[in-house]
Amino acid sequence: MTDASLSLTVWGCRGSIPAPGAATAGFGGDTSCYELSAAGRSLVVDCGSGMRELGDRLMREGPPDALDVLLTHPHFDHLIGLGFFAPLIARRTAVTLWTALPVEQVEDALGRLYSPPLWPVRIPGDYAVPVRALPAGPAGFGPFLVSAVPLNHPGGATGFRIEAAGRSLCIITDHEHGAPEIDARLARAVAGADLMLYDAPWSAEEYRRRVGWGHSSWREACGLAVAAGVARTLIVHHSPTRTDADLSRAEAELGAGRGRIGFARDGMRITL
Ligand SMILES: [Zn+2]
Ligand SMILES: [Zn+2]
Repeated sequence: MTDASLSLTVWGCRGSIPAPGAATAGFGGDTSCYELSAAGRSLVVDCGSGMRELGDRLMREGPPDALDVLLTHPHFDHLIGLGFFAPLIARRTAVTLWTALPVEQVEDALGRLYSPPLWPVRIPGDYAVPVRALPAGPAGFGPFLVSAVPLNHPGGATGFRIEAAGRSLCIITDHEHGAPEIDARLARAVAGADLMLYDAPWSAEEYRRRVGWGHSSWREACGLAVAAGVARTLIVHHSPTRTDADLSRAEAELGAGRGRIGFARDGMRITL
């Protein structure tokens, strides 16, 4: 990475529940966690199970004193990695969670997930993880400028457009298309982005049987990318039942060979 770039590392792009095993080793089985890097600084989106491996890497490299984490929403697949984030548990890194949803909603979810009898360690309590309201955008985090966009998802969720080093990256998870006002605002938010991550676990036919579940289809990902002039799109939040063979087949059908749209993989690193 050079100072004049924005990089993305995918630590977890599976949806709903981790899906480890030989059949998913290629695309990975960890849930939502993305790391952005620019000018020697990191910004993290979501605390899914992929956050554990990010933490292990930071411990090897020397963890930062402080880390800002943008939370899309407090569903457990987006929170289960926080209690296993080694720099927090070793008390080496002060983690702050930022949300555009009501702060109490996130605090309540954290407090319930990380307290007995569900888990012996309390967050907050044993570990301080302040939850802060994301300032109305664009909000500055070091070299990053963050704008939030509301998404259509049970309980609410937030998408982010993040700009740094003259590049732009949008993380849109979890979201179901079909609410006209939200879709119009989303299209404006992702317009012209260099890279968009978009939640789509299903084919168009599978989606028809899952209306109202809060997720989208591959077809909608392609449609939005084209309509909004997004340069490159990676589909995320893969269904836990989907194997590497399934995802490779679907990727080939979407024409991923051209590099414009494809499926994210855990461990992937992209420099914009
Ligand atoms: Zn999710
Ligand atoms: Zn969700």
